[in-house]
Amino acid sequence: MEESRDLAIGLDLGGTKIHAALITRDGEILGEFTCQTSTNESDTSANIIYAVNRVLSETAVDRNRIKGIGVATAGVIDTERNIIKFANNLGLENFPIGAILEENFQLPVRLANDANAAAIGEWMWGAGKGKQNVIYITVSTGIGSGIISNGNLITGLKDSAGEFGHISIYHDGIVCECGNRGCLEKYASGTAINIRANELLKNGETSSLLSIVNNGAVVMNTDIATAAREGDPFSLRLLEEAGEHLGTGVISLIHLFNTEVIVFGGGVMNMSEFILPSIKKTVLKYGMENLVNEVEIKKSVLGIHAGVIGASSLFFLNETNKEASSMLQRTNI
Ligand SMILES: [Zn+2]
Repeated sequence: MEESRDLAIGLDLGGTKIHAALITRDGEILGEFTCQTSTNESDTSANIIYAVNRVLSETAVDRNRIKGIGVATAGVIDTERNIIKFANNLGLENFPIGAILEENFQLPVRLANDANAAAIGEWMWGAGKGKQNVIYITVSTGIGSGIISNGNLITGLKDSAGEFGHISIYHDGIVCECGNRGCLEKYASGTAINIRANELLKNGETSSLLSIVNNGAVVMNTDIATAAREGDPFSLRLLEEAGEHLGTGVISLIHLFNTEVIVFGGGVMNMSEFILPSIKKTVLKYGMENLVNEVEIKKSVLGIHAGVIGASSLFFLNETNKEASSMLQRTNI
């Protein structure tokens, strides 16, 4: 009976989009649906049920083939009670996502935070496939990570491990909301790149982007990407600097975990052609030679599908990796 259950639903509850997909045990997407997120509980509830129903009706598979619903979500989660304790940008507090989905679909639910789910996805079916030491780093409005070490997802005491954006790279640097100073996120996230670009341009830096600021508008990161592609030295330097900061943080990860593959995802990686070379250069220049020489630094292969694929994979880990499965069962993900 269990053997015939070869599918799982992946649900990715992100800051801007809800993404649901029906996925095979081999990581293949059979059908998917995306809608906008809302910022209140009842709409979120309705949206996730609608998204899963759409995927189920469009794929029209035998329900007995589905093992469960894996959820990748932003915010702070409790995997024992299957609730989202807190997700600021979704307006959720103590949101019983597990109970809601179980009640509506009569399927078991497993929960993971979004960076951890993406890490599992890339590890099983993406840029880290076949490796046992993989770190996934997402660079978007903030910076987060999921760490697979010797085939185990590192979750920590309360599923809060991997806050890579909040390691300090300058002890007396910019004050961060987390209470620390000089957090990486303040220098290399999409938000940080954008703030720095606009500040420098207001102070009269020479750039093809200057006309935007002079017209009273704000430069967006898509403008920076376009300018960089057209060879604007200011934009190229800005992205190179972000790569240097990320590289500084990545060196610490490699030294701590003796990593084989570092995978970068998130919206800022739309500019990866400018940022990744700078990360690699920094890592090779300042890292411990015997550790950094072995590491592959790559862009995500699964892209926007990393979350749903990783979330659905929570139901199939035992088939490909026994150690990770036993660990996940212990933490009741
Ligand atoms: Zn911080």
